[in-house]
Amino acid sequence: PEMPAALVRSTFLDFFRDQHGHQLVPSSPVRPRGDPSLLFVNAGMNQFKPVFLGTADPRSEMSSYQRVVNTQKCVRAGGKHNDLDDVGRDVYHHTFFEMLGNWSFGDYFKEEACSMAWSLLTMHYGIPADRLYVSYFAGDAASGLPADEETRLIWLEIGVPPGRLLPFGLKENFWEMGNSGPCGPCTEIHYDHVGGRNAAALVNADSPEVVEIWNLVFMQYNREVDHSLLQLPRFSVDTGMGLERLVSVLQGKRSNYDTDLFTPLLHAIHQRSTVRPYGGRTGSADQMKVDTAYRVVADHVRTLSVCIADGVHPGMSGAELVLRRVLRRAVRFCVEVLQAPQGALASLVPTVTHSLGDVYPELHREADRIQDVINENEAHFLSSLQRGSRLIHRTLLRKDYKHGVFFPASVAWSLHRDLGFPLDLVDLVLEERGVQVDREELDRLVAENQKVTSGLQSGDQSRLMLDVLSLADLQRLGVPPTDDGLKYQYRLD
Ligand code: ATP
Ligand code: MG
Ligand code: MG
Ligand code: MG
Repeated sequence: PEMPAALVRSTFLDFFRDQHGHQLVPSSPVRPRGDPSLLFVNAGMNQFKPVFLGTADPRSEMSSYQRVVNTQKCVRAGGKHNDLDDVGRDVYHHTFFEMLGNWSFGDYFKEEACSMAWSLLTMHYGIPADRLYVSYFAGDAASGLPADEETRLIWLEIGVPPGRLLPFGLKENFWEMGNSGPCGPCTEIHYDHVGGRNAAALVNADSPEVVEIWNLVFMQYNREVDHSLLQLPRFSVDTGMGLERLVSVLQGKRSNYDTDLFTPLLHAIHQRSTVRPYGGRTGSADQMKVDTAYRVVADHVRTLSVCIADGVHPGMSGAELVLRRVLRRAVRFCVEVLQAPQGALASLVPTVTHSLGDVYPELHREADRIQDVINENEAHFLSSLQRGSRLIHRTLLRKDYKHGVFFPASVAWSLHRDLGFPLDLVDLVLEERGVQVDREELDRLVAENQKVTSGLQSGDQSRLMLDVLSLADLQRLGVPPTDDGLKYQYRLD
C-alpha cells in the first residue's frame, strides 16, 4: 500500500512536533520579505535568517524559537539556487517544491539532528537502511575549514557502514543560502532507487538512480558581503528534505512525476492536449520532447500558482521577470508541443489548488485571480508571437531564402524592437524552416543600438533589456547577464 503525499507530509510534521517538541510554524510566502539578496524563498531556513544571525526583534515570537518544524514553499528559479535548466529534463528538480524542515536554534546540535533524521526515515517511513548513503563535509584547506569528523563519528555510531559514508567538499557539503547569509557544513542523506552495486559512485553525480533527499546543515557561520566567514553567535541546525523526492521513495517510484503529487496534473494536461499521454521518458530525442513538455508544464503551473498567490506576478524585473519567462515557456510547451488550446494552462490551476490548497490555503483563496493572471499573460504573449510569425512568413514568401540567401537582418531587428520578439526566437523559427538570418548585419544593427543600451549595467532590469534583448544579444553587447532565467524561455529543447 502506498503512502499518499499528504500522509508523508503530516507524518514528518507530527514526528517533530508531537514526539520531539518542535513548534509548527507556517510556510512563509515565496516572495522574500526584506531580503534583497534573494529572488524567491529557496529554502525553509530563509524566514529564520534573523534567528540564526541573532538579529530577530527580541519582542517578536521568532526570537523565542528553539525547536521548529514546517513545510515551506520553495522556488529555485533564480539566484544562487537556480534549477530552471534541469526542470523537465530530469525527474527530481522542480522550480517549485515543498521543503520539509526541522530546526534547532541554539538547542540540539549534530548528534540529535542525525539520530532523529535516521529514525524518522528508517523506522517511521520504513526506508531500508541499506538503500541510504550519507555524505559529510570533507573540509576545505583553501578556506581553512576543517573536515566534519564529529559528524562522521556520529553516523558510524548510528550504524551507517563506512562504505556508505562519503566525504565531499564545499560544493556539495557546505550549504549557503546565497552569496551572503548563514551557512555551514552539512551532512546529506541520499537514496539509492535501484540497489545497484555501484551506487556509492553515483552519490552527488546527478544520477536519477541515487538522489539526494535530506540535507542537515549545521549553521555555524555567516557569509559576509565581502565573502569572509564570521562565526554565528550560537550554533543551530537547519534541515531540508524535498517532499516530492521523499514521496517518490515511499511510493516506490523512480520519478517524482509518477507520484500522486503530479499524476493528476499530468492526466489533466493530457485531457487538454491532442498528443499521446505522458510516458515518463527522459532524453533529448523527439519522442522525449513530449514527455519533457508534460513535466515542464506540470512543474511550471505549480510554480505559477504558488507565486501568483503570494503576489509575485509575471513582470519586468527580478523575480517577476523570471516568472514571466516561466509562464511563456509553459505556454510554448502547451501550444507547440502538447497542442493544447489557449486557456489550457490556466485551466490546470484547480488541479493544483486541489492538491496543495489544504496545506497552503492562499491557493484556494486566490484560485480565480491566479487563472486570470495566467490567461491575460498568455493572451498577450500569444498575440506577439502571432504577429511576429506572420511577419516572418510574409518576409519568407517574398523570396527564396535558402541556398545561401540570408533572411534580412532589418526584419529580425524590427521584430525585436517593435514586437519584443527575442532574437533567439527569430533564429529558432527560421531554423525550423532551414533559413539563416544575416548575422553580420544583425550584429551591426544591434551594435548600432548600443548607444541606447550602453547605459546597461549588470543586473540592470530596464524594459529594453527584458523585451528586446536576449541572452545572446547581451553577450554580443558585452553586458554580463546576471539575471537568472534570462536565457530560459525561448528554447524548447
Ligand atoms: P540537488 O543537489 O539535488 O540539486 P541541493 O543540494 O541543491 O539538491 P539543498 O539545497 O540541499 O538541495 O536542499 C535540501 C533538499 O531540498 C534536497 O536534499 C532535496 O531533497 C530538495 N530539493 C532541492 N532542490 C530541489 C528541487 N529543485 N526540486 C525538488 N526538490 C529539491
Ligand atoms: Mg541543487
Ligand atoms: Mg546537492
Ligand atoms: Mg543539498
